[in-house]
Amino acid sequence: MNNYAEKKPHAVLIPYPLQGHINPLFKVAKLLHLKGFHITFVNTEYNHKRLLNSKGPNSLDGFTDFNFETIPDGLTPMEGNGDVSQDTNSLCQSVMKNFYKPFCEVLARLSESANIGLIPPVTCLVSDCLMTFTIQAAEELALPIALFVPANACSLLCVFYLHSFVERGITPLKDESYLTNGYLETKVDWIPGLKNFRLKDINDFIRTRDPNDIMLGFFSAVADRIPRDTTIVLSTSNELESDVINALSSMFPSLYPIGPLPSLLNQTPHNHLTSLSSNLWKEDTKCLEWLESKEPRSIVYVNFGSITVMTHEQVLEFAWGLANSKQPFLWIIRPDLVIGGSVVLSSEFVNETSDRGLIASWCPQEKVLNHPSIGGFLTHCGWNSTTESICAGVPMLCWPVFGDQPTNCRFICNEWEIGLEIDTNVKREEVEKLVNELIVGEKGKKMREKAMELKNKAMEDTRVGGCSYMNLDKVINEVLLKHN
Ligand code: UDP
Repeated sequence: MNNYAEKKPHAVLIPYPLQGHINPLFKVAKLLHLKGFHITFVNTEYNHKRLLNSKGPNSLDGFTDFNFETIPDGLTPMEGNGDVSQDTNSLCQSVMKNFYKPFCEVLARLSESANIGLIPPVTCLVSDCLMTFTIQAAEELALPIALFVPANACSLLCVFYLHSFVERGITPLKDESYLTNGYLETKVDWIPGLKNFRLKDINDFIRTRDPNDIMLGFFSAVADRIPRDTTIVLSTSNELESDVINALSSMFPSLYPIGPLPSLLNQTPHNHLTSLSSNLWKEDTKCLEWLESKEPRSIVYVNFGSITVMTHEQVLEFAWGLANSKQPFLWIIRPDLVIGGSVVLSSEFVNETSDRGLIASWCPQEKVLNHPSIGGFLTHCGWNSTTESICAGVPMLCWPVFGDQPTNCRFICNEWEIGLEIDTNVKREEVEKLVNELIVGEKGKKMREKAMELKNKAMEDTRVGGCSYMNLDKVINEVLLKHN
């Protein structure tokens, strides 16, 4: 039993329960731990079980001052082996309805443990910005709280302007034809901070035809529930999104961009927490051995993240585009990638690519992206994938599907010029052409140079004295330690 006579600050962190939200907040937890905080990380029971399944039953034990707690997610258990991302609509509804009470119970349990000297008392909360019930919990216990945004700053800005899309009669769309008749090319020129944005570059929930759309309702409620004096921590940097950050900081004076997070955490690469990982799927590490035997910058790495799904036809277009490009590739195909069934690739495809392609179901993505043999990343443009690629200096091919992915794609291809976009209606000929452009073409070379420049700038921002590094210290001293 520990006696916490000399008290450490104690941060409780809670992510939105999806992989793309858990990973970056887990990085923040590690950063705070390295700065001397006792950490309690709160996952849903469902995700905690997956975490243990992926890494082993004892994989989370034995880390001093880094503990885990769980809460139920309020959803009906799914059929099958439970190794899939849960439905986002159901999660959004449940977060609003069912999470507040069990979260308060966790805080009460922690308080009891602190009273008998097992752990230091909780001194602050760091919550995903979508988990707005934590604001009330913090208020009731008079604890300082920071809301963490795991997406780009631009998406957050647009959430606060959501009402303007409704007031202007844009959302909901009048009918299905508006998706394809050129309407989405309409300029969005009324949001300060957005440069040359079109409707198609904004988070896809504005494209709903249903006035009662669950996502639209959820994000409107999130915008309403975040007071302007809330402390916001962003997983982006001034270098990546300066105009948007300026616009946001006039709305939220307590704004701290600390990204890109992969680079910030890499400042202390050999710390004792390195083996502590937040991946919910079992990682296939054989692909790293396979990469060892490959030429520098020769491999196209293909991964569509943790929730994107596609049709069987779309899988075939990507498969044959890759095969016909003749470039070597590492393709991560999650078991639940295809709508309504598992991926079956023909023996013809397997024979054609067996000498140059490797398919696996989940990988340690950051290690893969940082391997010298990776030449480019074919991605769905999740914000974590985007920043991880930037921090590895790897250019991208973009196939955004939903959520903030269109916005990220806009930044990748137009603002930073480190990627090329693949049409939504993906065709094998285009995949073949762009893969070649990326790996051996002139455009690929230029994009790689720019990606390296961005990587170096990210390193400057996150090293001692850089803006993001200083912002982490500031949010700790100005907000999170205010309770002590
Ligand atoms: N990831 C991984 N291995 C994989 C696929 C994804 O480690 O095979 C990680 C990736 O590094 C990132 C997260 O899962 O941190 C996916 O987040 P992102 O925002 O890119 O996309 P999402 O899954 O939320 O759509």
